[in-house]
Amino acid sequence: MKIAPVAVAFLSLATPLFGQQTPQSLAESELPSLLTTYKDLHTNPELSTHEQRTAAIVAKGLKAAGCEVTENFGKYPSPSMKCYGVVGVMKNGAGPTVLVRTDLDALPVEEETGLPYASKVVTKNDEGKEVHVMHACGHDIHMSVFLGTAQALAKMKDQWHGTILFIGQPAEETVGGARAMLEDGLYTKFPKPDFALGVHDDAEVAAGKVGLTEGYACANVDSVNVTVRGIGGHGAYPHKTKDPVVLAAEIINAWQTIASRENNPVDPIVVTVGDIHGGTKRNIVSNEVRMELTVRTYKSDVRDRVLAAIERIAKGCAMAAGIPKELEPIVEVQKDQFTPAMYNNPELTKRIAAVFQKTFGADNVETRPATMGGEDFSEFSLPDHSIPALQFSLGAVAPDKVMESRKTGRPLPSLHSSKFAPVPEPTIKTGVIAMTDAVLELMKK
Ligand SMILES: [Zn+2]
Ligand SMILES: [Zn+2]
Repeated sequence: MKIAPVAVAFLSLATPLFGQQTPQSLAESELPSLLTTYKDLHTNPELSTHEQRTAAIVAKGLKAAGCEVTENFGKYPSPSMKCYGVVGVMKNGAGPTVLVRTDLDALPVEEETGLPYASKVVTKNDEGKEVHVMHACGHDIHMSVFLGTAQALAKMKDQWHGTILFIGQPAEETVGGARAMLEDGLYTKFPKPDFALGVHDDAEVAAGKVGLTEGYACANVDSVNVTVRGIGGHGAYPHKTKDPVVLAAEIINAWQTIASRENNPVDPIVVTVGDIHGGTKRNIVSNEVRMELTVRTYKSDVRDRVLAAIERIAKGCAMAAGIPKELEPIVEVQKDQFTPAMYNNPELTKRIAAVFQKTFGADNVETRPATMGGEDFSEFSLPDHSIPALQFSLGAVAPDKVMESRKTGRPLPSLHSSKFAPVPEPTIKTGVIAMTDAVLELMKK
């Protein structure tokens, strides 16, 4: 891919009327305060579902931009858990409703960037274990872009009409924050959006650039627990046992044939057994083996088929091994942990791509590959994708580092890495211009 210098070529492309404010001029003037906010958020990260301080900063910024703000919005399945969702409504007459979302949470990672504003936060996680905390996914970048966008749009009310729903969403990394806000009535207590926009920083793209993926961009994520049961006994007398370890091994291999033999190869799927536990000692055949799977798909009919195949194969292998019916494997799909696939509406993606190309120049707009990762921004699009949604990506890496990595093939620190150190400038400024431009495109007068 051609790498263009991070020239501020886009500045010269803007042709404002005399005295009229532009996303560029506003991003520029807000930048010093956004960088201060960014560094504060980066130094003080909070774990998923514990975003109290972070949410307060986001709420304060939205209020300063003139939004009507609702805090602590969202309902988790467990009534004892407080949800730190933030909703800011910016009204500007009749017109379309557009949702703009940022996530709030950080990760249990010990920061190793060596940055002067690196996080040194240590806290206890929900299991009571001491963990370090870091914004290793760049959600602090998203919040800075989000607040800059709110400030810019507040000052450009002469150029758009309608209602903007600014969403500060907790618990993206653990999944559940977006759903908690929808469960609490986000689309009934507030105007239902005509479009939803999100942004995610990209650890492989140069700062100053943006990226787009049309169609499926992230996968359906299912968590499945499987318990394979056998009949334990002495390791020296296998004929008197039904060994669940051997059976589990067979099942794992057979599951891989779902992708290779049962599935249309143009529909990607992943079945990964990430965790397996069975047995206590080398000479004992155990009674059971427990496995935890992550299952990734795009289309919902493919998802249904893969989940059914996992159960059918587990039970079929057990039958072939002579396991009695009452001890057949237990297959549990963890419905509360499901994340739907993220689908970037093709029409919306093309429309915003054209805007970005005009603003930043075609060389600074990259097509990014889809992944089988998960992202619960998809929830705001609803299960049938009936609300057209787009999450674009924002280059966050020093351009010379991207160039070197593409030349040498040496990978850059990825998202979630303890060494991921996005460059705040020009990442945040580019993000504010891009998000403001995208909203203006959908709401222009
Ligand atoms: Zn992440
Ligand atoms: Zn993230």
